[in-house]
Amino acid sequence: MKEIKIFSPGTIANVSCGFDTLGCCLDTIGDEMIIRKTDKKGVHITKITGDDLPYETRKNVAGVAALALLEKYDQALDFGFEIEIFKNIKPGSGIGSSAASAAGAVFGINKLLNEPFTAQELILFASKGEELVSNYPIADNVAPALLGGFTLVKGYDPLKILKLPVMDDLYVTILHPQIEIKTAESRAILPEKVNLKDAVKQWANVGALVHALHTEDYNLFGSSLHDLIVEPYRSQFIPGFDQVVKTAKNSGALGSGISGSGPSIFSFCKGMQQAEAVKNIINEIYKKTGIPFHIYVSKINRKGIRII
Ligand code: ADP
Repeated sequence: MKEIKIFSPGTIANVSCGFDTLGCCLDTIGDEMIIRKTDKKGVHITKITGDDLPYETRKNVAGVAALALLEKYDQALDFGFEIEIFKNIKPGSGIGSSAASAAGAVFGINKLLNEPFTAQELILFASKGEELVSNYPIADNVAPALLGGFTLVKGYDPLKILKLPVMDDLYVTILHPQIEIKTAESRAILPEKVNLKDAVKQWANVGALVHALHTEDYNLFGSSLHDLIVEPYRSQFIPGFDQVVKTAKNSGALGSGISGSGPSIFSFCKGMQQAEAVKNIINEIYKKTGIPFHIYVSKINRKGIRII
């Protein structure tokens, strides 16, 4: 195989209560990428459409992740790799734009090398790409992009990712206001310390959410979607946040929260019809803010990145 074309999905990190640990994979929102073997050695980004991103290998998360993989490949290569990125997920949207590129690059190169690395190793390489923009090799977006479904980062040293079950009828409506929030900046505003009482509620919700996925309990899942620690700081940068959350809930959503570091807001729903109804009502209320936005409905993607 000389070339591979892939769909690299968007992802929701944090999922309310699971800051830096939980994530899930989207099905209808994502980038496309082509990764190709070339005679020219090294990693070269040769095409980017849809956004103005750096072509320099070490300044693009796709390039950094690819280099992290090749550094651990123990055979000498007499060829290199070309990467083309077709962006649909806007950087700074909170739906894992950089993660889609980092995860896609390592997925593609691993396939072209006949899969020498495991999925857990690919997550580690992709997280090195994320380090370029988040200042930390964060894995909560790249893990669901590579594994699909819901994932939980059990630990970083060593990196251990758990794949959680997905409920069949789980859909999500995503509102993406067209303002950019950089992950690094929205991390900087967070408190160093947390209140113990809040922490108790938070870890109870994380446990309950994981239990809900295992027992297919939609109501428990919805009632666990609370974030007392991070959301109060970040939501103030998202115009209309409280109203969107309230409207979604009143329209039958299981629960809503900030996707990653924002500004996107997710609302989980049981069934596609319910998700479409929530989409229509959020669409109506958000028009009144005057802020341009996109709104999508997606099923949870069980497989992650796919070859197209
Ligand atoms: P998101 O959560 O949407 O990925 P981030 O703030 O984490 O947003 O990442 C966006 C930043 O990453 C931007 O500054 C962008 O220039 C940089 N970046 C570098 N390479 C890429 C890439 N291939 N795709 C998206 N963003 C990239």
